[in-house]
Amino acid sequence: MRRTRVRFAPSPTGPLHMGGVRTALYNYLFAKQNGGDFILRIEDTDSHRFVPGAEKYIIEALKWCGITPDEGVDAEGNVVSVASDKHPHAPYRQSERKPIYRKYAEQLVASGNAYYAFDTAEELAAKRAEAEAAGQTFIYNQNTRKELRNSLTLSEAETKALLEERSDWTIRFKMPENTVVKMDDLIRGHVEVNTDTLDDKVLWKRADELPTYHLANIVDDHLMEITEVIRGEEWLPSLPLHYLLYQAFGWTDTMPRFAHLSLLLKPDGKGKLSKRDGDKMGFPVFPLRWVNAEGEVSRGYREDGYFPEAFVNLLAFLGWNPGDDRELFTLEELVPVFSLERIIKSGARFNPEKARWYNREYLRMKSDSELAKLLAPILEENGLKGAFTDEYVTKAVALVKERAFFVQDIWESAKCLFLAPKEYNQKDVEKFWKEDTPAMVKAAVKDLAEKGDFSSKEAIEEHLVGFIKGNEWPMGKVMNSLRLVLTGAASGLGIADIISFIGRDELLRRVNGCAL
Ligand code: GLU
Repeated sequence: MRRTRVRFAPSPTGPLHMGGVRTALYNYLFAKQNGGDFILRIEDTDSHRFVPGAEKYIIEALKWCGITPDEGVDAEGNVVSVASDKHPHAPYRQSERKPIYRKYAEQLVASGNAYYAFDTAEELAAKRAEAEAAGQTFIYNQNTRKELRNSLTLSEAETKALLEERSDWTIRFKMPENTVVKMDDLIRGHVEVNTDTLDDKVLWKRADELPTYHLANIVDDHLMEITEVIRGEEWLPSLPLHYLLYQAFGWTDTMPRFAHLSLLLKPDGKGKLSKRDGDKMGFPVFPLRWVNAEGEVSRGYREDGYFPEAFVNLLAFLGWNPGDDRELFTLEELVPVFSLERIIKSGARFNPEKARWYNREYLRMKSDSELAKLLAPILEENGLKGAFTDEYVTKAVALVKERAFFVQDIWESAKCLFLAPKEYNQKDVEKFWKEDTPAMVKAAVKDLAEKGDFSSKEAIEEHLVGFIKGNEWPMGKVMNSLRLVLTGAASGLGIADIISFIGRDELLRRVNGCAL
């Protein structure tokens, strides 16, 4: 039995979409479940699509989720560039593996599975234009290759001369004719494709001496001893070529098994969840916030206040379920229950409400004091660092946490326990703040301050209610007005709760200093 080795192989072409994080997560879970290795490999051979900062982003996003690679990055989170005892398969960045690939491409030429192609970009563009004019599409394949400039049509001497003279040739895969490629996918089952529908893909380019995705991917999966390839379904069309490459290299005995994951779909189920959807529909599609070269900001789960546990949990359930009703699993808890067999074939519809639900569940699982600690940065932002005891903050959390989905919600509901209002809700003011209101509010508060018992919220409540009733004043009007004075809005926490938190002195300060 080979040791399980799986890899997540992102191309650093931008921020990692949440679908990409899900791919990484499923790979990680599969590796851990089988006592194997999870490898992070950076596929950066396409320099045109390289985006600065993307690699760092990918590493940080995985780290935030707790998806730690066994190989690929070192303890500091740097991609390992030099092979060592611990990392015999390094480097893990394909651009640093450049010298490895050429010999494999040449090997395929020697065995008749590939050929040199000398067509210039202009010549190919002209062919495309010509075909388009005739209402067709140009494809470099078994039909056209016979009329193009390559080592199959040129003499050996001409080929040799061109290989030396020119620095823009490529090595293309020679797709076999009319052959059925029989493939097995762990999620999709058996798939067959006739090679006549496929083209002769470029494998290696002399111009930058770099392989294309297909060659680098197969060579590295082989050299890194990958046993299962778990990746997005957008790579399914490449699978026949990958099978044929394994055959051409003679590596079928150790060929990995494949699992292609279905796409994440928009909330309405119509089409794939794209990078733009989040900002359009008001939820994040990226794990972390991302600012592109134009300064455009895309929101991230982390910055939106999601707990990494909640994000991981909701991702796991986008396309997989454990087969029973249980929905809450931490990363560690997912390891034993996860299975490729239970991954659904159809696309997984993303539900933003469910995402919020997951966060609320994780928020509820946290203790009041843990949440109080998480509130500390917000208190600091509001200039309240050290202004309240831990006990006070913890009690405030306990009072409001039931209704919160995010730590930010705790702050929004509990703000009035820490700060006097800076503004008042205009609609509430119009509704409750009438000519006779200030006098009633002031009188009720004065009486409470002078004679009331502040030791419990029940005592406060009883005193206030007794006083208002005794004067035969309208209860709702006075109470809501008092809340308006204390918090800036007529609805929110119970009056007695607020007063028991802020105490007599602050009560008087807010009422006497009221800007209404
Ligand atoms: N570099 C490819 C990507 O960006 C990897 C595909 C694969 O896993 O084979 O998705």
